[in-house]
Amino acid sequence: MTDFDYDLFVIGAGSGGVRAARMASSYGARVGICESFKVGGTCVVRGCIPKKLFVYASHVAEDFESARGYGWSGDAPTFDWPTLLANKDKEIDRLNGLYKQTLSNNNVDLFEKKGVMIDAHTIDLEGQIITADKVLVATGSWPSMPDIPGIEHVISSNEAFHLDEWPGSVIIVGGGYIAVEFAGIFNGLGVQTTQLYRKDQILRGFDQDVRDSVAIEMRKKGVDLQVNTDITSIEKTADGLVATLRDGGTLQADVIMYATGRVPSTGGMGLEDLGVAMRDNGAITVDENYCTSVDNIFSLGDCIDRMQLTPVAIAEAMAFTATQFNNTPTPMDYENVATAVFSQPPVGTVGMTEEEARVKYGDVVIFKSDFRPLLHTLGGSSERTMMKLIVDKASDRVVGVHMVGMDAGEIIQGIGVAIKCGATKAQFDATMAIHPTAAEEFVTMREPAS
Ligand code: NDP
Repeated sequence: MTDFDYDLFVIGAGSGGVRAARMASSYGARVGICESFKVGGTCVVRGCIPKKLFVYASHVAEDFESARGYGWSGDAPTFDWPTLLANKDKEIDRLNGLYKQTLSNNNVDLFEKKGVMIDAHTIDLEGQIITADKVLVATGSWPSMPDIPGIEHVISSNEAFHLDEWPGSVIIVGGGYIAVEFAGIFNGLGVQTTQLYRKDQILRGFDQDVRDSVAIEMRKKGVDLQVNTDITSIEKTADGLVATLRDGGTLQADVIMYATGRVPSTGGMGLEDLGVAMRDNGAITVDENYCTSVDNIFSLGDCIDRMQLTPVAIAEAMAFTATQFNNTPTPMDYENVATAVFSQPPVGTVGMTEEEARVKYGDVVIFKSDFRPLLHTLGGSSERTMMKLIVDKASDRVVGVHMVGMDAGEIIQGIGVAIKCGATKAQFDATMAIHPTAAEEFVTMREPAS
């Protein structure tokens, strides 16, 4: 027994922190956790969950148009932002309550306060002092924006979840996950949407065919996607916001949203004073066991900036707690993490891009399929689906699978299991197709792309 109040104290009750707290408690540790905003963190409160709800909302107009081809008629439904906002908030409150219940059911003490570390074992919770043997920092990340004149007039995804008024027009800056997802949301909900990306193609880091397909489909749906451009200053006028671009041109919109990356939220917690080593962007440096440069302080999730993905933070929390509290050293496996971008149409991807595979294996065989989904034949949409397999010729292993099209996230989740198991192209070919589906293309592609 120690004299500390807790065996583990977690700062930050997001996906990683909550999982770590409840697992450590299940292994017999005495656990406390603090949260200065809402339990659930970015994913639940202002990220994955409300975003996906908005994506569903933004699809309805297109689904309604498609319904006409299937014999349905009637006036197009109209969209009411306050209703969506209220329903979304109700659901987030429900999830927030469930997270709190989970902590309580697992005997984790929750402090709805900001935690500041005074020394390596002592945390100040807005005046209440508690001590812990081990401390886990799981404080997530926060939107980052460039420091340009007028940046105070813009919003980030945080505010996009709570807009007082639904805009008539929006400019979105960035070409990553959040920018393409929100471009689809605003566009689908009838907002005149312009997306600006500073280089030549959005979704840097994804397979080139994925990047090109998403850009083509987004433009077909009405997003004014402009590349090789950026905003140099923003001015607020009586008619809205006016953005001056790199080439001197201007654009006007009701709202400008920046989705230019997220930086670790690690400041103002006393970590620097304790000598916790961090990278230039504030990411906490940890070893393979999530231990920081101070040996009883640990960190995981967005604030270590390895992969800013909810399931990764949860897996890191599982590995950390098994190692520290269940005598089971558990290394985290970051290989072949499947991911989805909820663009419209969505992206699902696992494994290497073609470019990465060519560098690693040299001789790779590419299989590609590009088709109009069956739904759209009567529905009338011109949206196409792109699927791609990348095979290492020497071993026949499928080393990358990419899809842009309806249900891509759902489909790639299953394919991710096969890739994790090291499936070969011959095993894909030996898998019976489910007909008629889009997913069957992954097991029926026989001719390599030229
Ligand atoms: P990303 O890092 O994905 O994208 C940032 C984008 O902003 C890039 O296109 C980048 O350009 C651009 N950018 C960066 N700095 C500037 C600048 N100063 N001026 C203009 N453009 C700039 O960040 P996001 O904010 O989109 O998302 C953060 C993270 O959250 C993601 O990386 C992802 O891990 C996670 N996330 C995951 C989701 C999912 O799983 N579906 C959904 C949403 C977020 P460049 O390419 O040139 O660097």
